[in-house]
Amino acid sequence: MTDHAALIAGTPKGLLIDGQFVDSISGERFDTLNPNTGTKLADIPLGSEADVDRAVVAARRALEGSWAKVKPAERQAMLLRLADLIDRDFDDLALLDTLEMGRPITAARGLRDLVLRAIRHFAGLATAIHGETIHNSAPVDLFTYTVREPIGVVGAIIPWNGPLFSAVWKIAPALAAGCTVVLKPAEDASLSPLAFGKLCLEAGIPAGVVNIVTGMGATGAALSNHPDIDKISFTGSCETGQRIIQASAGSVKRVTMELGGKSPNIIFNDADLTRAIPAAAIGVFNNSGQVCAAGTRLFVQRGVYEEVVAGVAAFASAMKIGPSLDPTTQVGPLVSAKQYTRVQDYLDHGPTEGARLVTGGARVTDGGLDTGHWVAPTVFADVNDEMRIAREEIFGPVASIMVFDTQEEVIARANASRFGLAGGVWTKDITVGLSTANRIKSGTVWVNHYFAMDPSVPFGGYKMSGFGREGGYEHVASYLNTKSIWVRMD
Ligand code: NAD
Repeated sequence: MTDHAALIAGTPKGLLIDGQFVDSISGERFDTLNPNTGTKLADIPLGSEADVDRAVVAARRALEGSWAKVKPAERQAMLLRLADLIDRDFDDLALLDTLEMGRPITAARGLRDLVLRAIRHFAGLATAIHGETIHNSAPVDLFTYTVREPIGVVGAIIPWNGPLFSAVWKIAPALAAGCTVVLKPAEDASLSPLAFGKLCLEAGIPAGVVNIVTGMGATGAALSNHPDIDKISFTGSCETGQRIIQASAGSVKRVTMELGGKSPNIIFNDADLTRAIPAAAIGVFNNSGQVCAAGTRLFVQRGVYEEVVAGVAAFASAMKIGPSLDPTTQVGPLVSAKQYTRVQDYLDHGPTEGARLVTGGARVTDGGLDTGHWVAPTVFADVNDEMRIAREEIFGPVASIMVFDTQEEVIARANASRFGLAGGVWTKDITVGLSTANRIKSGTVWVNHYFAMDPSVPFGGYKMSGFGREGGYEHVASYLNTKSIWVRMD
């Protein structure tokens, strides 16, 4: 047995309900695959509506029972213990992500700091929740104050592109707020969330507080349809988000939506290209482009256009494509055949629509890479705003580069998108940098940088990239209800 086999064997492969890993009621299971080889890694339960119901009953019982009596400082201590356990096991947790969704191992292990900072940050906020006293002007003498209460049972539905991080990012702030959770991992990446669930138990988080129901989209739909869930926190595609909003309307659930993007990254003539070019390339090709905030619409001012096109293309073609377990690999396989079909459709479409293919544009199969779906980092230049590769989220390693002349023009074009998740601006002129950042309609803008995330900083979408913010106190607040109490004083 290899170490990997031992790791998979030691990872729970049941539904986590009420503190126990159990089989689904139907006994049905599905396979989870290694995208490098297409071979089966494990099989895990296909959670049904009835399983979701069991998990919600457990979460409700915990919410109204033992968990309600746990003081904020104890919740904080549990989360800090959980962080220490994640630190202890991080290499294995990262390896599970690498094996199951193909993120190169060096990149997967590189997320340690962010994951630990996130959980410790939210642990800290558990003891910072507070209401207010309010000087009201009601005609009778009434003293008013607010209390913040946990919103209740949270259904958390996550995608496959950052499974461990997404599980932590949903569960830690919800627990800090005093909620209980039913997590639905993505069907393509459930193992690290299940291993995380086991650590929650080891950290002493009581039974029923964290429940995990694995399964397909229908399992997630059972959560968003469930009348006894108070909030759905969803990260995933815009289309699924729309379905969840509709389903949640039935019981008027609160919803947070972290959806897709087509983020603009704008390079002005005076930018420091030694920084802008590599950052722009990594901003698209990291995790094989399977990143919500990827800067896939690269707008370059005319004076440096050809230099940036050549620089990004050179960076792309020098990236090391290879097996996810090779520590030198920078570009691993796409997560699945389904994802590859989607990306290939855009690779075919680019030249048909008139874009200039500068590098990449195809699947890579040589050097033993014919067992999965590796796509070469791809640069299309001379793209215009109407092309599908400029408008739609590809979720693959594809940069669409466009030329612009003026600041006014590029701001208008950057904002002419149904998405508004992130964006970047590169210039040495602080006025141009800030005035552009201020006018970009997206939840995050980096100036002279691309990609930075911290648990203390809100992250989320404008427009069809979603609503609600994750990160910072706002994130914990999204799991709280505000109650106003009025006390007659005369
Ligand atoms: P997806 O929408 O296909 O699936 C996400 C999750 O929703 C999975 O767990 C899936 O099983 C579940 N699901 C599917 N149908 C459902 C339904 N009808 N009801 C309830 N749940 C359902 O997305 P994906 O392919 O897993 O992830 C990629 C997408 O996620 C991209 O669009 C990407 O931009 C987005 N994303 C956004 C962020 C962000 O923070 N804004 C972060 C990561 C990924």
